[in-house]
Amino acid sequence: MLQAAASLDTDVLVVGGGPAGLAAAIAARRKGLRVRVVDAARPPIDKACGEGLMPDALQALADLGVRIPEGAGSVFRGIRFIGDDVTVEADFPSRHALAVRRTVLHQILVDAAAEAGVELCWETPAGDLGHASARWIIGADGYSSRVRTWAGLERWRRRKERYGFRAHYRIEPWSEYVEVYWHADFQIYVAPVATDEVLVALLCRDPHLRIDEALESFPQLQERLGDAPRSTTERGGISATRKLWVVTQGSVALIGDASGSVDAITGEGLGLAFRQALALADALAEGNLDLYEAAHQKLTRRPRFFAELLLLLDGRPELQDRALRYLGRHPQVFRFLLAWHVGEIRNPIRSFN
Ligand SMILES: Cc1cc2nc3c(=O)[nH]c(=O)nc-3n(C[C@H](O)[C@H](O)[C@H](O)COP(=O)(O)OP(=O)(O)OC[C@H]3O[C@@H](n4cnc5c(N)ncnc54)[C@H](O)[C@@H]3O)c2cc1C
Repeated sequence: MLQAAASLDTDVLVVGGGPAGLAAAIAARRKGLRVRVVDAARPPIDKACGEGLMPDALQALADLGVRIPEGAGSVFRGIRFIGDDVTVEADFPSRHALAVRRTVLHQILVDAAAEAGVELCWETPAGDLGHASARWIIGADGYSSRVRTWAGLERWRRRKERYGFRAHYRIEPWSEYVEVYWHADFQIYVAPVATDEVLVALLCRDPHLRIDEALESFPQLQERLGDAPRSTTERGGISATRKLWVVTQGSVALIGDASGSVDAITGEGLGLAFRQALALADALAEGNLDLYEAAHQKLTRRPRFFAELLLLLDGRPELQDRALRYLGRHPQVFRFLLAWHVGEIRNPIRSFN
């Protein structure tokens, strides 16, 4: 049993050393706290992910003091939506985004945590911790968080689940945009992750659909990929938009996917986790998790709004067609929405006028 106790092994025990847990650990170390991270797996840990770091995620990483070395990822300048016979794109207003292989990002975060003085314990499942004690316990153990259950926080306010699959192809990227191909019932997106590699991700409600079958609906994309070999095997996961009533309990706080999530179509899961990490460290330094509870609510509002907005188009072909055509005729609206989505517009009503 984990304990938050008076005689302490460490100040902060982080369960889960994925992106959220490592970001939380780095942020807490920067506040001078002793931090231990335990994870059941060994780095670099891979996971089904679209691997896009939006401009606001890169800003949060910079605020955490984490630098992505040049060449570790591939820059993209905006988002392109591709529908039946309409294509519309928008650039990020002032900053670029990066697609970084998940394993590369994980290793960068592991190195940054080690350098910050975080104690890292790999191949250590939470159940094996015996009577580890800490002042604060952070549940960063992902979608099926055991800490969440253990802390009695398993009370969902909203829950919508889809499935996500991804594979990489050895081919030179053809676009500086992340391309989102809209089908009535699913989306495929393509991101440049290296000079000779692209990621293809599928988001759908059907757990049996796979990338090859979905690609048949987009012959132009199929043709572009041609016979490029896959450089990874297909990997799947849950893409969920979920909200908990509360994310703290006593001295326990949840972060990242353990604390709820937004659909992967937003490309915001990682950025959200990094911003939560910064807010959590502020709260730990003040000794007051209520501050984190409030910050968490606020931080999830914008990505959740965009998740709900984009999901309105999923499974509604007519609405989807009308929306894409509207954006095609009014590209400034797409630019505005993208700027708002990545946090470059704080007051959307005033900014739109
Ligand atoms: C298909 C798909 C595409 C996505 N695309 C994007 C995108 O383009 N951009 C973006 O920002 N986000 C994207 N996301 C979301 C993003 O991947 C997640 O939000 C992010 O991985 C959450 O990180 P995390 O650290 O909270 O969880 P995880 O990455 O799941 O890490 C949890 C960690 O906890 C460990 N763990 C679990 N249980 C235990 C235990 N009992 N004891 C010890 N350790 C344990 C695991 O080993 C793991 O390392 C996508 C998600 C999916 C499914």
